[in-house]
Amino acid sequence: MSVRRLAATLAATLVAASAGPAHAEAPFAFATTPGFLPKDIVPVEYVLHLRPDIGARTFRGTQTITLDVRRPTRSIVMNALELDIAAASLNGPGGKRTALAPPRRDAATQTIAFALPMPLSPGRYTLAMAWRGKINGAVEGLYLDRRVDATGEHLTLATDLEPTSARRVLPCWDEPAFRARFRLSVDVGAGASAYSNMPVARSAPLAGGGRRVAFEATPPMSTYLLALVAGELERVEQTVDGTRIGIVTTPGKRDRTAFALGASADLLRYLNDYFATAYPLPKLDHIALAGGYPGGMENWGAIVYNESRLLVDPATATASMRQRVNGLMAHEMAHQWFGNLVTMAWWDNLWLNEAFAEWMGIKANARAFPEAHLWLRARGAAENAMELDARSTTHPIQQPVTRDSEAESAFDTITYDKGSAFLRMLEAWLGEAAFRDGIRTYLKRHRYANTTSADLWAALAGASGKPVAELAGDWTTQPGFPLLDVDAQCDGGRRRVAVRQQPFRVPDDGTPTAGLGERRWTVPVQLGSVGSTATDPLLLRERISTVVRDDDCTAPLVVDSDNVGFFRVRYAEPLFDALATRWSDLPDGARLKLLADTSALVRADQAPLARWLALVERIGDEPRLAVWDQVLADFERFDRLSVGEAGRPVLHRFVVAVVAPRFTGLGWDERADEPAEARQLRARLAAALSRYGDPATIAEGQRRFARWVAEPASLAPSLVNAVVEIAGRHADTATYETLLALARRAPTSAERFRAYRAMATARDPALAARTVQLALDRDVPQIIRHELLASVARWDHRELAWAYAREHADALLADMKLYDGGDAFAAIVSASASTATADELEAFALARLPSDALVEVRRGEDEIRTRAALKSRLWPELAASVAGR
Ligand SMILES: [Zn+2]
Repeated sequence: MSVRRLAATLAATLVAASAGPAHAEAPFAFATTPGFLPKDIVPVEYVLHLRPDIGARTFRGTQTITLDVRRPTRSIVMNALELDIAAASLNGPGGKRTALAPPRRDAATQTIAFALPMPLSPGRYTLAMAWRGKINGAVEGLYLDRRVDATGEHLTLATDLEPTSARRVLPCWDEPAFRARFRLSVDVGAGASAYSNMPVARSAPLAGGGRRVAFEATPPMSTYLLALVAGELERVEQTVDGTRIGIVTTPGKRDRTAFALGASADLLRYLNDYFATAYPLPKLDHIALAGGYPGGMENWGAIVYNESRLLVDPATATASMRQRVNGLMAHEMAHQWFGNLVTMAWWDNLWLNEAFAEWMGIKANARAFPEAHLWLRARGAAENAMELDARSTTHPIQQPVTRDSEAESAFDTITYDKGSAFLRMLEAWLGEAAFRDGIRTYLKRHRYANTTSADLWAALAGASGKPVAELAGDWTTQPGFPLLDVDAQCDGGRRRVAVRQQPFRVPDDGTPTAGLGERRWTVPVQLGSVGSTATDPLLLRERISTVVRDDDCTAPLVVDSDNVGFFRVRYAEPLFDALATRWSDLPDGARLKLLADTSALVRADQAPLARWLALVERIGDEPRLAVWDQVLADFERFDRLSVGEAGRPVLHRFVVAVVAPRFTGLGWDERADEPAEARQLRARLAAALSRYGDPATIAEGQRRFARWVAEPASLAPSLVNAVVEIAGRHADTATYETLLALARRAPTSAERFRAYRAMATARDPALAARTVQLALDRDVPQIIRHELLASVARWDHRELAWAYAREHADALLADMKLYDGGDAFAAIVSASASTATADELEAFALARLPSDALVEVRRGEDEIRTRAALKSRLWPELAASVAGR
């Protein structure tokens, strides 16, 4: 899945409990895998039929499940949620049929249990069942994907089952280790077609109209990967390496499928080769839904996306759009092996699925777009993970999951982005070929089965001959990461490098973290010098390590010059000064790392602000988008400290003075011979200059917007997003109406989302007051409704958005399951730097939200309180420093 919660969630108590020394995990064994279901009965095959009644928003289901009873038992326990069981019967080995009494429900574990009159002896049985369920409006279980456009309302039936919603569609063993085959069939209305994991086996007309569509049997797989999408749909197809690849869309969008089809073909060839195990199903569909589905979901053979993340209009396609689509497809396709063919045993190992898919998504995307420096750009996500991971409320990559609500909350930045950054560091240490060979072995050894992290370490250790488990445990079972303090002396052609490690933490509310002081990591570190090629990483195991290298010492020391480490580096002052002086000679990764680490150290009160300013002053000619993204993110962090302060305009002028020369160098107009990265940078800098109030950029952006509305071909596609944002940010009522009309009549989700997002940035308070009303407008796409209040808040109207959210909390909670988790409410205020806001959030959550939401709320509060502490410490110095420049 590519959908993530807005921030990580896990109670600090769990962190404290797991903060001790790293423990060794055992390889996968079915019997000892965590979960709620007894393991004495195992499903082998589900023969499942669904009859949806779209008008009534309900469905009927029937199934026959082949069961393997492994130990004598007196009850059959399985998952079911919001299903009315109409009948159930059991057939034994002798053909004897037993009608079962209605099951007992357990709301806490979301299970039903059939009591049996006699103990079942081991053997094969079949369980037949009939039930009714509901078709949801929210993206959960069987749901209706709804979109409204100029021609009216359109509905597509779809499933979304990860992590624990298969039980909302069929009674089943809904834990990932219970793999089984599925033979699904479904009745669909006239004119509809249906897609599932496997190809259609039979399709026959029904007496009353419509068709009954039956699919071929799946391989043994986890329940959360089952998929069904049915409605008015079109498909284009191409066969690659024997696999039929399809792109499925709602009607009239064929002309936007070519890029995805080509990208899927290229990715399939690459992944077949990388994994050395051919894609195992006969077909692979990429299904574009137009309505509420956010991101992508890797259902085996039937990946579902929001169409804004899959379809590309060839007339207006930009490099960033192609990179975004290809990157998401690579993530979801990597899951077809890592996740689907080999599945994590339990949700505590979710990172095995998601970190790997994220890492491979970047790797395959970087290969497809070598000129785009996508590994460097991926450091932005790693930085976000390090921000969270430096606070007391973080958690380890592998975390205990003892309730279903925790399975949902495991889909977070630590799991995805710390996890993938760790894999990148591990790959650099083992070497690309050894890492790949280990992955190949792992997939062959465990295909159609489940694993724990220990199984992955064993395969990687076998391929590389290195002690993988020893290093990996430090990173996946401990929260946080190290700060490396680096000093060096030179002595007759030899350089003595001293490295001291300690946990990196930001000062927050002062809550002590158990075991923090004792935490230690085995750290793979590259040591090099400016101008020389990088050397193989050394392993630093001790709290203090000394490394002696043959070196002429004339070039400055660089630590982690490829920027693959998940740690921060603080250089002794002479070393830092030497690097800053040679700034433009440093490798791309080293420049980015020096800037990012310096910023983080300054904000953690562990380095002087002057160090950050010294680097920012050298940024003028910086060619890399990734480095600019880091600078712009730092400006935004500092801008949040300035809200309501007299010095804010001075900070904004400073930002404009740093950014404007590079933008002027690029100019507004594309050049035929410039790289795509320059086009992306131009758009990024134009938007930044508008945000920080540069009058010339705003005026030119508005002029270009007005012309683009009248004459779409007048604006280079690479500038459309930035120009629409400039228009939205500085909109008057007429411009706002223009954007609203564009949003309402847009033919595709991507264009609709762009217009709504621009409206949410408006400075004018009267327009912001109109935008917040859209948060409950059912004709605004669900994805946009979910994010509107947080956007309005972040664009200078926090009080307005927060007041609206509190006033309409009941309606918001009823409209969106997302709000249940508390993160959508926390997101509205989490950019604040005021402890009073944190107190308000806490009081609101205690009064109005379910207790599960409090974990997420606590994290939002933590972010605010950390920022408030930073503001009181750093803002006066920052304001004085930029005023003097
Ligand atoms: Zn994923």
